[in-house]
Amino acid sequence: MLSKILLTINLTRTIFSLLTQRLLDRLQNLIHFHTYTPHATPKDIIVIGASYAGYTCAEHLSQTLPPGWRVVLTEINEFFNHTWLFPRASVMSRKAIEQLTYIPYPIRPRYAPDGSYLFRRRKASRVDTELQHIHLEDGAVLAYEYLVLATGLPGRYPAGINSLQRDQGLEYFARLQTQIKEARSVIVIGGGPVGIEVALDVVSEYVGKEITLIHSRGHLAHGYGVRLHVACMRALSEGGVKVILNERVKSVDATCGHVKLSTGEDLAAEAVVSLSGRGSWDLLIMITDNMQIMCTGSAPASNPLPGLPSEIITPTGMISVNSYLQADDASTPNIFAVGDIADTGVKKMGRAAGLQGLVAARNIVRRITGRNMMLYKPGIIEQSIDMTVGLHKHLIHVEGGGRCMQFLRRTKDETLRAADMWRMLGAEPPCV
Ligand SMILES: Cc1cc2nc3c(=O)[nH]c(=O)nc-3n(C[C@H](O)[C@H](O)[C@H](O)COP(=O)(O)OP(=O)(O)OC[C@H]3O[C@@H](n4cnc5c(N)ncnc54)[C@H](O)[C@@H]3O)c2cc1C
Repeated sequence: MLSKILLTINLTRTIFSLLTQRLLDRLQNLIHFHTYTPHATPKDIIVIGASYAGYTCAEHLSQTLPPGWRVVLTEINEFFNHTWLFPRASVMSRKAIEQLTYIPYPIRPRYAPDGSYLFRRRKASRVDTELQHIHLEDGAVLAYEYLVLATGLPGRYPAGINSLQRDQGLEYFARLQTQIKEARSVIVIGGGPVGIEVALDVVSEYVGKEITLIHSRGHLAHGYGVRLHVACMRALSEGGVKVILNERVKSVDATCGHVKLSTGEDLAAEAVVSLSGRGSWDLLIMITDNMQIMCTGSAPASNPLPGLPSEIITPTGMISVNSYLQADDASTPNIFAVGDIADTGVKKMGRAAGLQGLVAARNIVRRITGRNMMLYKPGIIEQSIDMTVGLHKHLIHVEGGGRCMQFLRRTKDETLRAADMWRMLGAEPPCV
């Protein structure tokens, strides 16, 4: 009981402080909007990667940088890929939920004055840290004063979405939905949060399908405390999902829909969804003719961006950062890394990525204006998770200081509040 009270106080304090900060930011943004004057040759801060971490960072910079400075955001994709919605978009065919997964980028963020922001839809192919240049794949060379790496981890998308094109992504989701709809039995491999969400989405959306979830460990969603495992087991059992723990999948026969376990046991299904990733969120889906969906994990690239000094790259290919989110090497004080690519030790989550993007943006502005930088202190948000357990229920699991608590939130919204994300990007969501 006492631990619940302490956690509730901690959570309330965190939410209150984030809301207050947001309000103060808005006031500051308004003043900035009316006082910032564009410069003919601004000094540039380049942010590479416009997703949860990079976009948040660039947005905040565009709203707070002093005159004479500008943020340049480079991104390969034409649309913001709202990955949180990908698992549900793969399952649910009743509504065109996949229409919400690709969000157009704005010309410039809200409250960003003219001249403070530039979006380049190009891949950054190389960096020269001595000359402080970024080379784009079209041959353009951009000079930077500060560089923010927000390139995420490769392979986070389902394998069917190799294309950068929205239309092909939408076709892919539609194909998956039909295949899941037509399958009588589905095996989901991988009991991380996404595997559990997918299994429960399938049982909530379709009555009468046989769903089996296979997990290689004894503890579902093993990145979190055992109470989350217990709550997920309960939700899966209530949904009629058969759960097999401590079993590895040895092979999947794509031609006949058979999954072979390490014990030699054979399972048959019309659809196999495998989410057995190395990270807690990994999802890679492969479809065969015989209604097979295979998802495996993503891994960091050996070098996130050619030209980066090897000193800042960890053996797993992430960027080693200090508590200010600067690349952890004395020779690169003007390089920051945020989100999944940064080796912060926290779970790879969009919410954490956004918070890190904000801290890096604030620290760059503080450096420019000669103030002390702030420390990135992961807190209760980074250790907690809000996951769906069926179409209309969210399980919120809060951890902190060795304690944890959970609550169930019911909702009519089946789109995971995607409209909020659209509006954050200044776009009006389509009605689905
Ligand atoms: C299926 C799934 C469901 C998830 N659900 C949730 C959830 O419900 N809640 C949650 O908090 N987290 C969730 N996550 C985790 C979350 O999506 C990631 O933690 C988050 O995407 C990390 O954000 P990021 O900005 O660091 O990197 P990413 O989102 O990976 O983005 C990196 C960006 O950089 C761009 N890029 C890469 N290289 C270059 C280059 N050389 N030049 C230009 N651009 C480049 C990429 O195109 C991409 O847009 C989920 C993840 C998956 C896979």
